[in-house]
Amino acid sequence: MRSIATLDLQYAHRFYGFKGEAQYLHGHTGVLTLEVEDTINEGVNMVFPCNEIQKTAWNILKNFDHALVLREDDPLLPAVLRVYEAQGIKDGAPTNQMKGPAFHTALATAYPECRLVVTKETMTVEGMIKIVYDLLKDKLNIVKITFTSGVNAATEEFESRKSMDRCPWCGIALNENGVCPKCGYKK
Ligand SMILES: [Zn+2]
Ligand SMILES: [Zn+2]
Repeated sequence: MRSIATLDLQYAHRFYGFKGEAQYLHGHTGVLTLEVEDTINEGVNMVFPCNEIQKTAWNILKNFDHALVLREDDPLLPAVLRVYEAQGIKDGAPTNQMKGPAFHTALATAYPECRLVVTKETMTVEGMIKIVYDLLKDKLNIVKITFTSGVNAATEEFESRKSMDRCPWCGIALNENGVCPKCGYKK
């Protein structure tokens, strides 16, 4: 069975080199749907609490929220950094608090201090699905990701990779010692 969680991400991007309106900088509210598969955890009668899927995903993906997402070869990138630098906000600002841990994968690098994500490929909805799967595949047993952004939408299914030990009382994943990090239950 699957548990399904949804989260919103507001971001700015553009398709550098694309011959259409999207080559200009613009913004979206993207809606990400994550489907996590496992057996039903009989203690709580669910696969996984959806708010915990959201929390796990948001901890990393909040780096995309209120962020600028640019491809690594986009000339806007050095231009924006120059302005942020001159303004003194390139390395952070007291009001920039919604930061996740910086990440670096083959597909994307997050710079939380200046709310910037640099991508290897254009951040289309398809591109975002690849990035998200790569960031979350070891944390959640994701079997399907859907991402919509304006009129664009894409979906991809992935092979189920593992079953997780979950707490029979609160449903969340047990840590490597078989202990629930939330309530202390021990397997
Ligand atoms: Zn767009
Ligand atoms: Zn627990």
